[in-house]
Amino acid sequence: MSYHQAVHDVPIIFESCESPKAEDSFDPTVGGAIPKELTRGDLDLPDIPERDVVKHFVNLSQMNFGVDNGLYPLGSCTMKYNPKVCDDVVSWPTVAQVHPLQDPSTIQGALRLMHELEKMLCEIGGVDAVTLQPAAGAQGEFTGVHIVRAFHESNGETRKEIILPDTAHGTNPASAAMVGYDVLDLPSKDGCVDVEALKSAVSKDTAAFMLTNPNTLGLFEKNVREIAGILHDAGALLYYDGANLNAIMGKTSPGKMDFDIVHFNLHKTFATPHGGGGPGAGPVGVKKRLEEFLPVPRIVEKAGVYSLDYDRPKSIGKVRAYFGNYAVLARAYTYIKMQGGKGLVSVSENAVLNSNYLRENLMDDFEMPYDKLRKHEFVLSGAPLKKKGLRTLDFAKRLLDYGFHAPTIYFPLIVDEAIMIEPTETESRETLDKFVAACRSIMKEDPKLLHEAPVNTARRRLDEAKAARDMIFSWRGYLKKKGASPPASEPKPS
Ligand SMILES: *Cc1c(COP(=O)(O)O)cnc(C)c1O
Repeated sequence: MSYHQAVHDVPIIFESCESPKAEDSFDPTVGGAIPKELTRGDLDLPDIPERDVVKHFVNLSQMNFGVDNGLYPLGSCTMKYNPKVCDDVVSWPTVAQVHPLQDPSTIQGALRLMHELEKMLCEIGGVDAVTLQPAAGAQGEFTGVHIVRAFHESNGETRKEIILPDTAHGTNPASAAMVGYDVLDLPSKDGCVDVEALKSAVSKDTAAFMLTNPNTLGLFEKNVREIAGILHDAGALLYYDGANLNAIMGKTSPGKMDFDIVHFNLHKTFATPHGGGGPGAGPVGVKKRLEEFLPVPRIVEKAGVYSLDYDRPKSIGKVRAYFGNYAVLARAYTYIKMQGGKGLVSVSENAVLNSNYLRENLMDDFEMPYDKLRKHEFVLSGAPLKKKGLRTLDFAKRLLDYGFHAPTIYFPLIVDEAIMIEPTETESRETLDKFVAACRSIMKEDPKLLHEAPVNTARRRLDEAKAARDMIFSWRGYLKKKGASPPASEPKPS
């Protein structure tokens, strides 16, 4: 093991500016960049030279794990390497410096990019129309469930219930409940949808069934068309959680599987760096009969000219300002164009290959529930650790000492001591072999070491319960909590 994370003593950036260094600081009015009368003096920003700002954030980044410094097998999150060319494109002035309030005649290129991206996502998802507005997977679900409601209401129906399998991502029940639906949890059978149980659960009150396929265990639901038939016969809709399309691109699609609505996570499958809350994009695709409910405005093209259509009486309205997260959309566009159809197919093939390669190599050291081939991810059980007084959490913490980000743990809920691994297609066989060696070595280590892990990282075990319960999001909140009043030159707590 040769991994040691950097440790820097980095104060909060507000604490770094003990005395404002006016002579070094950034003056936005220099060179007429911003007219003096438009600058604001009341922003309470720390006054620090650019050099110190760069040092601050580079040092912080060295005390962290990211997709750019190693394997990040965080199941369900698709933490793949994101080609830098995508970042390059979004820094072009023609992409970065357009404003959503410009007249459409002056942003034809941007509108065309989005329109073409919609078309590409239609092709990948097997759907007829796509909105790019939602800013995350969860917001895509929220939008999709609103479309479900609008659809039933337009048929004069008020259906009360959305059914979900017990392997569903936590955002699915949350989105359904936020739109006002009752949520019915369907227990799985052998890791997949229990078709008989589904038949008896479906009723006239069922608005939709939300499904992830391959599901969060990495298993492909083979009966998906039968499932779709059951829902459609009852007048309900089928919603596909397409946060992770990494397993199926060019092989099949939600549309081919008879789903009516799908959301895509561009920040997972289509190469936008994500984590820590964003940025993201969760476009929603629908079949023809649901197109009229999509958010406004729609981008329409006529004889090569792009314009915005707000005249959509059945639309659910807007779900986000303007067009969504344009930089994320432009990255996804670049990525898809760069890969081409064949490239996307090989992305999926390699994601599935890497996942099964790890699964084969790890299954003897752990417990392997549902012993079948997996798609882009798989779930092990860390239950054997219990004999040594250890838990999956201890294993995950120890992996950090080997220079690997930990996998997702304790999800999905139906696997005891779950360890959910998604290697993605961007890792080499050498890296996967090193990961296997690290996992095996950890399983043989002294339990005492695992209890103490991580020891080679900038920070040891954090108090996660405190972090979740006692949240402080800002410098002002921190000062308020401490009951301290800041010096006159520093921001006052509000
Ligand atoms: C990540 C994920 C989501 C939520 O996406 P966000 O962009 O984090 O809101 C939903 N479903 C599944 C299966 C996911 O993996």
